[in-house]
Amino acid sequence: MEKVIIIGSGPAGLTAAIYAARAQLQPTLVAGLKPGGQLMLTTEIENFPGFPQGIMGPELMLKMREQAVRFGTKIIDNEAVSVDLKKMPYQVKVGDNLLETRSVVIATGASSNWLGLPSEQRLIGHGVSSCATCDGFFFRNKKVGVIGGGDSAMEEALFLTRFASEVTVIHRRDTLRASKIMQERALKNPKIKFIWNSGVEEVLGDKNVTGLRLKNLVDGKISDVALAGVFLAIGHSPNTKIFEGQLELDKNKYIVVKDQVLTSLPGVFVAGDVQDHRYRQAITAAGWGCMAAIEAEKYLESMAE
Ligand code: NAP
Repeated sequence: MEKVIIIGSGPAGLTAAIYAARAQLQPTLVAGLKPGGQLMLTTEIENFPGFPQGIMGPELMLKMREQAVRFGTKIIDNEAVSVDLKKMPYQVKVGDNLLETRSVVIATGASSNWLGLPSEQRLIGHGVSSCATCDGFFFRNKKVGVIGGGDSAMEEALFLTRFASEVTVIHRRDTLRASKIMQERALKNPKIKFIWNSGVEEVLGDKNVTGLRLKNLVDGKISDVALAGVFLAIGHSPNTKIFEGQLELDKNKYIVVKDQVLTSLPGVFVAGDVQDHRYRQAITAAGWGCMAAIEAEKYLESMAE
């Protein structure tokens, strides 16, 4: 029987692990099939305190993992395929193994959204991607597009200028959602062009992407733009599939919290992007993870009394 199982290995899960391990709870962390979470797909992190020169996302996650292991966290690099939170002890199925635990910290984060067009889905890996860091290299001296107007879109566009001959950002409105500093960097980069007020009707191409068919959302005009690659950066959805029917989810499938990291179930805590659609930063996720571990510790103490 585990004292605490942490599900998720982004900043929220690993911070929860560091705190729980230092509280001598011997936590088990289920890291998932893509350990490290969304920061594994980013480039440089400039706003995580303590790194004045910035740090690469994957390096930051590796350091957090090392820190969690140093204090005795047991990490399982496999996926939690189901949970049973209906009775005590709680159960978490990891691969074929059924683990029992007195408390759970859910830190499963969020994943990138897709437009959902059949042509987009068909061409994933053939010019359609949601990760410039992973796939940007393949588009050396080619023209690529980035869809979205948030920080991720600006970050992807800026990163892609290292390889691509030209990067076109396609946004559905005429103002960006991204933070001012990211907007400014993208707007003044000579390799980045913007197409405003436009939605994607179709990803063009048979075996590989050849372009996009766009619809101007103001005048309804359709036009084609030739591109070798298309990067989606249109936000994220929480990874809550295994909690459906176990915990209350809101209309966008985020876990509903009772108070901060507390859920309606005793001993079940949530941390990071799986419940937070407001801040969604690495540092806030780490903060929620710390809070969840402290609450788990208090909960386990109260049960022992
Ligand atoms: P986001 O801020 O939610 O932005 C998503 C963008 O995609 C918006 O511009 C949105 O348009 C557009 N969009 C959404 N659905 C669409 C659809 N179906 N078709 C076309 N466009 C669509 O998501 P994000 O950029 O991934 O950022 C998430 C969070 O992470 C934010 O809090 C952000 O600050 C943070 N972040 C920070 C950094 C950094 O600080 N360097 C880097 C990356 C992410 P509308 O604007 O019209 O809604």
